[in-house]
Amino acid sequence: MIDTILPTPDLFGATRVLCIQPHYDDNDIAAAGTIARLVAQGSEVIYLTVTNDLMGVVDGFRNDDEARAALKRDQAAAGTILGISQQYWLDYPDAGDYDYFAVRRDLLKYIRQIRPDFVMTCDPWLTYEGHRDHIQTGLAASEAVMFAGLTRIASSDPAVDAAYQSHQIGGIAFYFTREPNTIVDITATWSQKEAALRCYQAQFDAAGLAELVRAFDHKSVQVAQGQAFGRGEPLKVLQTSALHCGI
Ligand SMILES: [Zn+2]
Repeated sequence: MIDTILPTPDLFGATRVLCIQPHYDDNDIAAAGTIARLVAQGSEVIYLTVTNDLMGVVDGFRNDDEARAALKRDQAAAGTILGISQQYWLDYPDAGDYDYFAVRRDLLKYIRQIRPDFVMTCDPWLTYEGHRDHIQTGLAASEAVMFAGLTRIASSDPAVDAAYQSHQIGGIAFYFTREPNTIVDITATWSQKEAALRCYQAQFDAAGLAELVRAFDHKSVQVAQGQAFGRGEPLKVLQTSALHCGI
């Protein structure tokens, strides 16, 4: 593998991090330990969820409105544990038929409006990723980060584009990656991550949730092998210039 020649940007130097996830629990499953550390050191962390997540809910809801309320309840509970300052939703159909460029336009809008200095999302180039929502979200977020300053590329809100004044995005951090260049020490925040994961009851029954926690418990230890700490989360952290032509 040939690495980028650009230095790895400092995620922990970020003041405002926008975490863009396909489904309501991806940020926390992949990176809650890192996110809790960011919040603890004073960074503002904002979540944006691309799909409505309705396909994964467990049985027992009478209709979609009830399911939506349960999903938001879970996210709010986990967000309180981690200290998330704001949550946004785009409501594209989970695992559904929707337009990639519409998602990219919406992400351009929120990036221009929120003005994060770091963006976190899932790695759209994860080998063997079979879920299209993850590929589309990661790719649209990457393009939106690259194109935020190019207002000739319209977002979904002309008023936001008109008011936007170019700002610096210091980097992008990909989770669910097979090529990490950063292992974040989450030893001190593992208990917060575990508590946040246990909030996701609309999509997991008790046994499923226990299995999820057990899997990421083991994963966090596996990831930290060879490090000077006990638990880690793997990230690929890149400058935005590294997102094009392999610089
Ligand atoms: Zn997902």
